[in-house]
Amino acid sequence: MHHFTYKNDNLYCEDVAVRSIADALGTPFYLYSHATLCRHYNSFNDAFEGIDRLVCFSAKANTNLSILSLFRQLGSGLDIVSGGELFKGLKAGYPPDKIVYSGVGKRIDEIDYALSEEILIFNVESMEELDVINARAGELKKTADIAIRVNPDVDPGTHPYISTGLSKNKFGIDTAGAVEVYKAAAGLKNVNPVGLDCHIGSQITEVAPFKDALVSLCGLIDALEETGIHIKYLDMGGGLGITYGEETPPEPDEYARAIAASLNGRDLKLILEPGRVIVGNAGILVTKVLYRKQGKKKEFIITDAGMNDLMRPSLYNAYHAIIPVVKNSKDTIVADVVGPICESGDFLAQERPIHNVQSGDLLAVMSTGAYGFAMSSNYCSRLRVAEVMVRGTEHSVIRSRETYPDLIEGENIPSFLIGC
Ligand SMILES: *Cc1c(COP(=O)(O)O)cnc(C)c1O
Repeated sequence: MHHFTYKNDNLYCEDVAVRSIADALGTPFYLYSHATLCRHYNSFNDAFEGIDRLVCFSAKANTNLSILSLFRQLGSGLDIVSGGELFKGLKAGYPPDKIVYSGVGKRIDEIDYALSEEILIFNVESMEELDVINARAGELKKTADIAIRVNPDVDPGTHPYISTGLSKNKFGIDTAGAVEVYKAAAGLKNVNPVGLDCHIGSQITEVAPFKDALVSLCGLIDALEETGIHIKYLDMGGGLGITYGEETPPEPDEYARAIAASLNGRDLKLILEPGRVIVGNAGILVTKVLYRKQGKKKEFIITDAGMNDLMRPSLYNAYHAIIPVVKNSKDTIVADVVGPICESGDFLAQERPIHNVQSGDLLAVMSTGAYGFAMSSNYCSRLRVAEVMVRGTEHSVIRSRETYPDLIEGENIPSFLIGC
């Protein structure tokens, strides 16, 4: 459920006509609904009522400072994957003891930053990383609480680019070898192995893969207990899917029930790292139709948003519903919706039945709150778009559209090129 609905053929975000924002700000822009963001965070968190847990919003899905700070106010912790996300999380007011740090390639400066801020836990992905964290913690006179990210080798049944828990993936340590890594960690002076972590993939639309992973993790927790290593934190990662088109993913309640049943009253704190399920359906991308064009084989709708603004269709062949902001025609056509970028991979939709829009009409690309703006770039020297949040009848620009001078910020022509 989200708050993007039609009133008299006009698309509204809560109580604001999307068209009125486009008139004021120009296009393209991302638009988020405050009510939807709150609803999704709260329903996810409430689903785990009665279980000792910390929900850590996965920052990489959407790192806008206003969105991070909204979730922080709702009580969320934060899952980060870089020093930059730590910086933004701290700016948004997250207490370090609610921040968990994941990722296969943590740099030394990033590890030092996280150690000096005293974050809750490092999710460690290799033996070498473990040694580096131990050495840096010693240097900085800190002790690091760590979890080992294991790879339970379950197939999440999602797109290959976003499945991360198979033995062929670069993530985590295989379950069989994990006990040895824990023993090694227990022998190190400056790290405490107190957690167990996994993240099996993204856009998962069934509970079975999560249950399978949990069975494997619980077995490992028992094996570790026998060697005297007590696991205090169990981090299930993120990955719960959303409805983009026809998918019917489990509701947070069903997901939580499945996890609770498999945990069976174990004495540990559950950490969850949801991203997409919280923000995905809380945002849309609003774009204007520039041209219509009849190709020899295909009809094209050319929009002012392209793959640099929303990469998911090009990268994963992802489906996003595209609907008119104002319904001013009754007929439907079949067309490719494409952007202005000089690449054939630059499309928002292919061979899509779509409202018969004309030049100047506005389109809403739905369910783009997760991995939308966060993955956008300046490719082709295009300005990154504005982000706007609506709350009731109010709207606010939470990130300004970039300007041409932003494009050369930090660039510098060396003296040996001047006067050539
Ligand atoms: C990306 C990521 C998440 C969030 O995944 P979603 O599918 O958006 O819920 C959580 N944890 C880790 C380690 C990740 O890399």
